[in-house]
Amino acid sequence: MKNVDRRKFIRNVFAYNATLILGANLLGACSKDVLGSPFDTELEYLPIQNDNPAISLNMQKCEECGDCIEACAEKQKVFGTYPASSTNHVCIHCGTCIMKCEEGALSAKSHWQEVINAIDNPSKTVIISVSPAVRVAIGDYFDLAKGLFLIENIVGSCRAVGFDYVLDTNFSADLTIIEEAYELQKRIQENTLIPQFTSCCHAWVKYVEIYYPSLLDYISTVRSPIGMQGSLVKSYFAQKNGLDPNNIIHVAVAPCSAKKYEITREELTTDGLPSNDIVITTKELALLLKSRNIDLTAQTGSFDSLMGAASGAGIIFGNTGGVMRAALRTAYFNITGVNPPANLLELQEIQGLVGLKQATVTIGEAKLKVAVCYEMRSAELLLDQVRNGNCSYDFIEVMACKGGCVGGAGQPTTNSVIEKRIRALNIADMEATTRYCHENPEITAIYSDFLGEAGSPMAKKYLHTTYNDKSSMLNS
Ligand code: SF4
Repeated sequence: MKNVDRRKFIRNVFAYNATLILGANLLGACSKDVLGSPFDTELEYLPIQNDNPAISLNMQKCEECGDCIEACAEKQKVFGTYPASSTNHVCIHCGTCIMKCEEGALSAKSHWQEVINAIDNPSKTVIISVSPAVRVAIGDYFDLAKGLFLIENIVGSCRAVGFDYVLDTNFSADLTIIEEAYELQKRIQENTLIPQFTSCCHAWVKYVEIYYPSLLDYISTVRSPIGMQGSLVKSYFAQKNGLDPNNIIHVAVAPCSAKKYEITREELTTDGLPSNDIVITTKELALLLKSRNIDLTAQTGSFDSLMGAASGAGIIFGNTGGVMRAALRTAYFNITGVNPPANLLELQEIQGLVGLKQATVTIGEAKLKVAVCYEMRSAELLLDQVRNGNCSYDFIEVMACKGGCVGGAGQPTTNSVIEKRIRALNIADMEATTRYCHENPEITAIYSDFLGEAGSPMAKKYLHTTYNDKSSMLNS
């Protein structure tokens, strides 16, 4: 889009939001809990500040085309809702702007050299955990076919580069489901705080904290998979392996820029230590391997035990609809005592690249209405329904990125291959030893040896979190 069209677009967005504010004031209610006012219409780029924990802006590459502003305003409904200026910027760290910037002026903050330093420090035990979507995208950086499932090569390469342990974040995805399904059943039984929203995506969580703080209790209190993976590495895994948690550097490799922000949240510490020390993206892992001349395809290996086994349910966390499908499998088992039929395993209605999808699922005597969405422009519709008391859903999955984490801002920026990545994770789910997290033997072991049961005080301590009203960010 030319700059003149861009200005027109931005003016329209501002006018639309101004109308919302005016209308909301007249009606005595807002579309969001808080709406900002005047906008700096002169801006032609997102004024990302140096202290943004997730995203960097390189003005030398910026052509001031405004594509980033358009993506932020249109898809994520953030820019245009507060008084933006060259020194004031509100960010949910989703990285939609990064994916849109063709000049490479916006990027996820770089931390891979810190990982190299940790690996080269013999006094540290350096542990890496690999998120689901990384394994179907890293091949792009090595000129391999798109959507290749490369987990054994990633594990082997991480060992070759010097990580002491290589673990699977899918293990914690399985754990997320056990806790989230338990929480959902409890809410339904007590008929309170329905719908339950998922909590894996911290760009989404921050969006609610800023714009809909009165609805924070509807979000599951379960930590994201990397949130609980980090806390368990420094507690359960350290104890079992005789490691000093103070000497552990836990690195999470994720498809995501928002994870870099998430690990800075104070409520996600473990016994006074940060649960995750460093987050690197898929791209950074590729850079790290290349810097040490590691040929991805020449290495193979398997995860370390205790936190290295996962079900197919954990694998599909990277896909839009994946968290919901995984949770419903275990909810079905918990309620009926048997595993679900094939149609519920796949649940085609909530798969695919449509921003807002829904399904009704029968579990025993109950009918559960669920929704799955990505990007905040879809989530906003559901949030408004909840606040207005006319939401008919019981459980809602929200992700910030198109297609879910497979389309995250830490991935190679190739929009057209998201479907291939989704298909690759679905195939891995179908081929997994088990497709149910409640049948993962390492999950059974951690509950019997460490956590007790779902929702126990130990589970609350290591697997759950809290959220905060951040609406004041809109006034600064
Ligand atoms: Fe990160 Fe996934 Fe959320 Fe995108 S959808 S911001 S990749 S957690």
